[in-house]
Amino acid sequence: MSCIFCKIAEHKAPAKIIFEDSDIIVFADFNPRAIVHLLVTPKFHCSRIMDLPDNLTLKIFETVRMITKELKLQDNFKLVLHNGALAGQIVEHLHFHYLSNQPNVDVKFKTVIT
Ligand code: AMP
Ligand code: ZN
Repeated sequence: MSCIFCKIAEHKAPAKIIFEDSDIIVFADFNPRAIVHLLVTPKFHCSRIMDLPDNLTLKIFETVRMITKELKLQDNFKLVLHNGALAGQIVEHLHFHYLSNQPNVDVKFKTVIT
């Protein structure tokens, strides 16, 4: 399957990764529309929120809270899901955009694949 986010999850495509575990990967959007623009993505390939297993749905939100604490953005971020082409989804692998325009956020990349 030639899914770019699956390739990133497998470390077979370039990415600036800030967090990953066996289920979830968080990496920088390569065309940022905010000072902080991350993509919070299940490693499991599915396109739509209705296809995401419950345990991964929970883990996505736990991960959002964890990175929010780490980046100290409790009061200043938004989460965006484009669910379907009509809603603006381009990459057909489910992902949440994590966006903040807070200046001076210390985003540390754990792994950078070039
Ligand atoms: P959308 O599918 O509209 O929710 O948005 C897809 C997002 O993925 C866009 O913001 C792109 O800039 C971003 N994107 C696409 N390919 C990559 C990539 N290889 N690395 C990082 N971000 C990407
Ligand atoms: Zn995929």
